[in-house]
Amino acid sequence: MLLLALLPDSVLVGIYGGALVKRAVALAGGKKYKITAKGGRLIVNGVKRRKLTLKSARLLEPVKGDYPGLLIFLPKGNAFRIINKLPREEYVAHVIASEMGDAPLEALKAQAVLARTFLMRWGKRHGIFHACDRDHCQRYEGRKRTKAIHRRAARETKGLVLTYQGKPVEVLYHASCGGWVCEPRYVWKGGKSLPYFWTGEDEDCFEDDNAHYTWKVFAPLKTCPRVKRIPGSLRVYAMFLGGDTLYAYEIRRRFGLPSTVFAYWCTQTGVIFIGTGRGHGVGLCQRGAILKAKKGWDYRKILKFYYRGTTVRKVGR
Ligand SMILES: [Zn+2]
Ligand SMILES: [Zn+2]
Repeated sequence: MLLLALLPDSVLVGIYGGALVKRAVALAGGKKYKITAKGGRLIVNGVKRRKLTLKSARLLEPVKGDYPGLLIFLPKGNAFRIINKLPREEYVAHVIASEMGDAPLEALKAQAVLARTFLMRWGKRHGIFHACDRDHCQRYEGRKRTKAIHRRAARETKGLVLTYQGKPVEVLYHASCGGWVCEPRYVWKGGKSLPYFWTGEDEDCFEDDNAHYTWKVFAPLKTCPRVKRIPGSLRVYAMFLGGDTLYAYEIRRRFGLPSTVFAYWCTQTGVIFIGTGRGHGVGLCQRGAILKAKKGWDYRKILKFYYRGTTVRKVGR
């Protein structure tokens, strides 16, 4: 019963990362609204107001978007926040469209279950709204990319979340593992190794030779680094450079590498990294999920592959 209370029926999304903005322009019901704020009040088309709520609005500034449900403008000082309130399942459909785009139905359904699980696990991190519209939470761009298949994926998994021993799992996913998934401890210093994450080969991605997932980066370095790979894996988790030890997330940030599955060569002018995959490699691999769905796997089998020992449970209406 406790779980039920934690999955909201309608979702509040902080647009523009949930940050305070100074100016917005919106269209609703054939009318244009120019919005600013002063001293804790909104100024809408030149008129002072406490609050403004628009239905099925299009936002032209500060971000372009077509938003279902309500757009709520909340003033604070000389700025305001824009919150989009919409039914949970509609939010899920738009999130999976923004996160995965065109993909097979069963892969989208796996992402839909994770989108809801995220709401349960992290739905309170922003306080006054459930999630922001950025990668910090889950990417949400309103109706921009949503097609019938995204709505169907949400509908066919309605109210379902992924749990381990009765609790929602930690929601982590990435674009492509490059053939090797791993536990959080190989990515983040002090990363908790939760029992459902594992380290090893994602065969479908290993055999996948889609050029989009291979990359090359040059770094002008004077010394040639040494690396440590996860035993039995091509994924690098530590790099020794001069006197420094860099951890996986630091390696990617320092050199702008899409992933830590790479080979490298030292030349006189620097280091050439050639790698595969995109993202940290923990949890669901979106590329792998797509390849598995194409092979005929359903979303439950896909989720259980990336999240071992977990159960899909219905907790919401
Ligand atoms: Zn956020
Ligand atoms: Zn993969």
